[in-house]
Amino acid sequence: MSTHATPWEAALEQLDDAARIVNLDPNVHSVLRSPKRTLIVSVPTRMDDGSVEVFQGYRVHHSTSRGPSKGGLRYQPDVDLDEVKALAMWMTWKCAIVNIPYGGAKGGVACDPDALSRGELERMTRRFASEILPLIGPEKDIPAPDMGTDDQIMAWIMDTYSMNVGYSVPELVTGKPLSLHGSLGRSEATSRGVMFVTEAMMRDLGRQIEGTRVTVQGYGKVGAPAVRLLDELGFTIVGASDINGGIYNGSGLDVSQLEDHFAEAGTLKDFPGSEELTNDELLTADCDILIPAALEGQLHEDNADQIKATLIVEGANGPTTPGADHIFNARGITVVPDILANAGGVTVSYFEWVQGIQMMFWSEEEVNEELRVVMQRAYDDVRFTAARWDVPMREAATILGVERVAEAHRTRGLYP
Ligand code: NAD
Repeated sequence: MSTHATPWEAALEQLDDAARIVNLDPNVHSVLRSPKRTLIVSVPTRMDDGSVEVFQGYRVHHSTSRGPSKGGLRYQPDVDLDEVKALAMWMTWKCAIVNIPYGGAKGGVACDPDALSRGELERMTRRFASEILPLIGPEKDIPAPDMGTDDQIMAWIMDTYSMNVGYSVPELVTGKPLSLHGSLGRSEATSRGVMFVTEAMMRDLGRQIEGTRVTVQGYGKVGAPAVRLLDELGFTIVGASDINGGIYNGSGLDVSQLEDHFAEAGTLKDFPGSEELTNDELLTADCDILIPAALEGQLHEDNADQIKATLIVEGANGPTTPGADHIFNARGITVVPDILANAGGVTVSYFEWVQGIQMMFWSEEEVNEELRVVMQRAYDDVRFTAARWDVPMREAATILGVERVAEAHRTRGLYP
């Protein structure tokens, strides 16, 4: 595998490894290697100056064997089919690992959301939603926010769908605003899940939280709440980064001042009392735990040897290439894989969907407690699988997900 394996190559290699270890039926294996459906759409959008720009959009269903498909929507300039297919496959395993009744999906539009006005963003989103209308629906495929998208975008998608069918369908999307029956606890659910598995892993490794230094790459919907929650738990946050670069202080950053600084400046850059690092330097800076919470392919064969952390907890999807994984395994670095570590988001999305269908809403305490139970069970199942097959956690998590999906597929049988 090359240093810069594409996300789809990485996802296939992980599936093939798991299939080899458990001796998966080759017929089932070949079904799981291909996404069930891919849709590529043109999204013509009226810009503020009157011109029309045509964006390219995608929606992929990897599997629906265990239920309707579920997955985020990404707005990013370099979104392509390869990436969306990989993310949809990882969603399939993730939903199976936390044992919620969904298959995997993902979608996106190749665009720079920061370069669009609010009106352009809304028109593009509504047109994209109309174009993927045949694939989405509360019993078919339920989108959610991902990189570059947020609760407002979910609200526009929900409204576009509702206008088309003629009545309100809040359970079409998750990660909605609370005013449209979003779930309490959803906005920080992914980070809370990262916190739960980090805590569980520390316990299993016999390590103390006090004095353990953490670096977080990415300060968005996953990274920023993760910084706060881990700080509250007693970890020392020594480094963080956003797209503009990293900041570092070996004796610890003041997290509440950091939040204020980010709220004011819109970036971590120039945070008083910190050293400025490049994004690459931040990844290899001195720390005990590294939490990548930005993009795919950040930890690869060119930097895996220089990573100082002894525990990596993947907040982002696909931040580690298979080549880097081999190096981490050889170096004895523990990696808690994305499909377990960041599954808190889809878990609370599931709670949001259930609440929407029932029109019965839970307290934040109930959401957080149910999330803790689901994440702990998934963590225990992955650890059990790792011990059973004597494999690292990524292989164990993939095996667990693949076996659950394969079993559902076999039990349903191949149509016709
Ligand atoms: P986001 O858009 O809210 O935040 C992304 C952050 O990464 C931003 O702070 C951005 O500045 C930063 N960033 C971008 N490029 C960077 C670079 N080169 N170096 C350092 N930082 C960089 O997105 P998000 O929702 O937080 O998603 C982050 C990752 O987590 C993605 O891989 C996503 O698929 C995954 N994820 C998100 C959720 C969720 O609930 N939002 C759930 C599971 C997984």
